[in-house]
Amino acid sequence: MTQRNEMRLEFDARSMNEGFARTAVAAFIMELNPTLDEVADVKTAVSEAVTNAIIHGYDNPQEKVVLTCSVEGTAVELTVEDRGKGIEDVARAMEPFYTTRPELERSGMGFAFMEAFMDDVRVTSSPGKGTTVWMRKNLGNPKVADTYE
Ligand code: ATP
Ligand code: MG
Repeated sequence: MTQRNEMRLEFDARSMNEGFARTAVAAFIMELNPTLDEVADVKTAVSEAVTNAIIHGYDNPQEKVVLTCSVEGTAVELTVEDRGKGIEDVARAMEPFYTTRPELERSGMGFAFMEAFMDDVRVTSSPGKGTTVWMRKNLGNPKVADTYE
């Protein structure tokens, strides 16, 4: 089993940073020896959560998005946090095809993808204060992860 290992990134709410966040997480979880499919799943989930923080959370690109990632045993845990607009009705926002930005050609599938690709997704949000998305996924091959003990 790997020992707990954590990282935290804080970056501007600019679309260009979505790729950075996704790639940073992919690199960080390599110690769990994930399959390509698992890496793709986690990258997609990070990408959706970070894009939401950037697009829906803020109007000002100088505001910050905070991403944390930890690995322990065979699991990865992620949080994506903004201190922006927040969500009034989280349950409704998480329904497939629900979007408040159809004019941006959003399809309302971001949360549905996060839930499909991760084992557990929890969202806490308050209007005017911001949003935190917490996600967890079990992955990797514990035998190879032993190498890092
Ligand atoms: P897509 O992700 O398919 O491009 P979308 O972003 O609208 O479209 P979801 O990611 O499922 O769809 O999010 C649904 C809705 O939840 C958004 O339209 C938005 O109203 C709200 N939302 C999501 N994340 C945030 C956030 N970080 N801050 C404020 N509102 C958010
Ligand atoms: Mg989205």
